[in-house]
Amino acid sequence: MNSPCNRTSILDGKHLAKQIRTQLKNRIKQGVAEGLPTPGLATVLVGEDPASSVYIRNKIRSCKEVGVESFHEPLEESAGQEMLLETIKRLNQDPKVHGILVQLPLPRAGYSEVEVLESILPQKDVDGFHPLNQGALFQGEPRFVPCTPKGILRLIEETQVDIAGKKAVILGRSNIVGKPVAQLLLGRNATVVMCHSRTQRLEEEVRSADIVVAAVGVPELVRGSWISEGAIVIDVGINRQDDGTLVGDVAYEGAASKASWITPVPGGVGPMTIAMLLENTVEAAWGVS
Ligand code: NDP
Repeated sequence: MNSPCNRTSILDGKHLAKQIRTQLKNRIKQGVAEGLPTPGLATVLVGEDPASSVYIRNKIRSCKEVGVESFHEPLEESAGQEMLLETIKRLNQDPKVHGILVQLPLPRAGYSEVEVLESILPQKDVDGFHPLNQGALFQGEPRFVPCTPKGILRLIEETQVDIAGKKAVILGRSNIVGKPVAQLLLGRNATVVMCHSRTQRLEEEVRSADIVVAAVGVPELVRGSWISEGAIVIDVGINRQDDGTLVGDVAYEGAASKASWITPVPGGVGPMTIAMLLENTVEAAWGVS
């Protein structure tokens, strides 16, 4: 992790994710040589949404890189819910498939996301979205933790700051980011405040935070002046601007001048998500080490 100036350090997710992939690659090589099954990840993509197609391509490429066997199941948008459920049923029964990932969002018409997520066997639910896995996290006994929140916690741990007793302010309450991050930080004894679009005095909340996690999808909503001296800032947002560049939910330059640690966009949280997916797949195949 490198320092842009004396006080602020960049939480380099790209670098950390690469380290994790290298460790996984070595672990998989050794495990397979010792007779363990090759971890297998099935990806299911319904339709041809360009952003989803890119995410899936990246996931398949990362599987190859570390030695996870990849099984890709593309379905036409017109395939329908029954065909999708049949595909998942087949993958649930396939012993070579240890993890199943259905790329979200599903096309709006004709699909029930809840029913699809519930149809994945909890022990193959490497995205951690099945209600049983979400419930286990809520009860403080996590099994499969959703990949982006798991990556966020790993980045915060990288600072080696003791999380216990710190005030963590989370912006965004989605099931895939905000809520699981809150549970993970509660599990580390942080004092957690959850903010959302109806929160009043958002700026005040952020000013009082030792740890800020911004996952709202609003470009640079969090101003640098809102950040308290020495805070840890995790920017989950990925917002594409008209000129094609990406910005986060935090105004980076201003925030970096106040924070002790900050994630860049891109190259912060994003790369950690796939690394955690690969880690969850290895755990699904071999159990937690
Ligand atoms: P959602 O749209 O599901 O949730 C957004 C949340 O932000 C909601 O809880 C919403 O509140 C809240 N919100 C929206 N506007 C404001 C505002 N002005 N003030 C306070 N809160 C607000 O988004 P996701 O959680 O799926 O994603 C959030 C961001 O993270 C996006 O930019 C997304 O692209 C990115 N992302 C990045 C990933 C990565 O790997 N790096 C992975 C997943 C997401 P309310 O509930 O009241 O509507």
